[in-house]
Amino acid sequence: MLNRFRRTVRCSKGHLFTATWVPYASLTSIRLGRVRYMRCPVGKHWAICRRVDNADLATLTDT
Ligand SMILES: [Zn+2]
Repeated sequence: MLNRFRRTVRCSKGHLFTATWVPYASLTSIRLGRVRYMRCPVGKHWAICRRVDNADLATLTDT
């Protein structure tokens, strides 16, 4: 059921990975609007990450 919330995100170091991005709720990350501080599974580090899919659209609709 959470598959609909799967999003491609990019960490501050440029790693791309897929994460569960649930609006208005966060189990494994700190919600910071369009960006989140979460663990990057690629570099195995914590970093500021932001969504990269439908970025332009998200800019208009995300709060
Ligand atoms: Zn990373």
